[in-house]
Amino acid sequence: MEKTAKIYNDLDRILVTKEEIAEAVRKLGEQITRDYAGKEPVLLCILKGATPFFCDLIREIDLPLTLEFMAVSSYGAATKSSGVVQIRKDLDHDITGRDVLIVEDIVDSGVTLHYLSKHLAGRGAASIRIATLLDKPARRRVELKTDYVCFEIPDAFVVGYGLDYAEKYRNLPDIGVLAPRIYEAE
Ligand code: 5GP
Repeated sequence: MEKTAKIYNDLDRILVTKEEIAEAVRKLGEQITRDYAGKEPVLLCILKGATPFFCDLIREIDLPLTLEFMAVSSYGAATKSSGVVQIRKDLDHDITGRDVLIVEDIVDSGVTLHYLSKHLAGRGAASIRIATLLDKPARRRVELKTDYVCFEIPDAFVVGYGLDYAEKYRNLPDIGVLAPRIYEAE
């Protein structure tokens, strides 16, 4: 308990509680189950941030499905996107003819998923949709259709439930706004 209390001191405020997350993920799982009925989608987890969301979501989907993992990065340790997307870990299996659902933690400028959706379409997927836990529409720099969004949030740098700052805070059960003093010291 002591450890969690210390990490929480770095937050300005809690934005989404673990109870709100659980409810939203349950509803999203039901919707995906309805929308993909009769299909066997590929659920694609974007490492590392989407991991808790992905693990919770797949267990709320009542369909046969397969899992894939990709690691992409456009950030490094900073709090603003560099706009350059790199694939650090690629798919393990061919996705030709498959219905791919990309599972992401947060859409900010949209650059990462814009790049990734085009890249996957070029590899022969039958369909590509995006499920994101958080969306910051105010910061969009490219046009991007997000098919499933759990929470729209204001323009603030958030951590927790998979989201990090310099690899920390991913294990917080809630999502909170990181106190600017933490990264302004950079
Ligand atoms: P985009 O390409 O849409 O600008 O950025 C997407 C990626 O930026 C996300 O997958 C995430 O890694 C990172 N990101 C964007 N906004 C935030 C934020 O508020 N907090 C954290 N921790 N990461 C963010």
